[in-house]
Amino acid sequence: MKRFYFLLYMIVSSAFGVSCKAEDVEPVRFVKQREAMVRMQIESRGIKERATLDALRKVERHRFVPQKYQKHAYEDHPLPIGEDQTISQPYIVALMTEVLDLKKNEKVLEIGTGSGYQAAVLGEICEQVYTIEIIDTLGKRAKKLLADLKYDNINVKIGDGYKGWEEHSPFDAIIVTCAPTHIPEPLKKQLAEGGKMVIPVGEAFTQKLVLLTKKNGKIIEKAIIPVRFVPMLNENGKKY
Ligand code: SAH
Repeated sequence: MKRFYFLLYMIVSSAFGVSCKAEDVEPVRFVKQREAMVRMQIESRGIKERATLDALRKVERHRFVPQKYQKHAYEDHPLPIGEDQTISQPYIVALMTEVLDLKKNEKVLEIGTGSGYQAAVLGEICEQVYTIEIIDTLGKRAKKLLADLKYDNINVKIGDGYKGWEEHSPFDAIIVTCAPTHIPEPLKKQLAEGGKMVIPVGEAFTQKLVLLTKKNGKIIEKAIIPVRFVPMLNENGKKY
């Protein structure tokens, strides 16, 4: 009887081209934890925008954290991703995504790829995503993971994001996930007319999240909430 079922499985799976590797199948506990995360950390704090909520429901956050932290991937705080860097708290990812008011046909630039999680969230919403990471190992790892997850619309570059990515500018939206002490001039320049930029600005531990909008070539600034991000560094490891 066992043989019969085995044979049946072989026939059915080959007929449907099923090739399920264990790591491709998402454990049910993560599906449940992700739904609870969206309800209890994101929606309950007032995030309403459909595209943002759908993206947070879809992206498998546990794939972006080191194995030993996977069981904490859906908790309400940042987590270490190596090289002294962190993946942001889910609520902050959602808030920064929502305030950009992204549309499908837009081009968005992220500074600070880190794990690639925020980039994946953006990649669910926008057709073109550009993201820059200054730490080689993190950038390479994120690039591979995003390619494995079939995000063909996300371009990862290793480099100093302070300077932006001129050849692909202007950008409809810019999201900065590391904190400089001032708003980088090149990023202001590379923002499209009518575009929005969200960026944490300030010294370590006392930053504010700022939303900038470019109107008639002028930048309008609005503070959102106090935040705590890792500093934006140059190629010599010095703070901007
Ligand atoms: N968005 C990330 C979290 C980023 S943590 C995620 O979803 O996981 C901030 C990242 O910014 C770190 O990986 C850090 O190395 C990077 N970073 C710091 N200064 C930078 C710079 N000048 N250009 C690009 N990336 C920078």
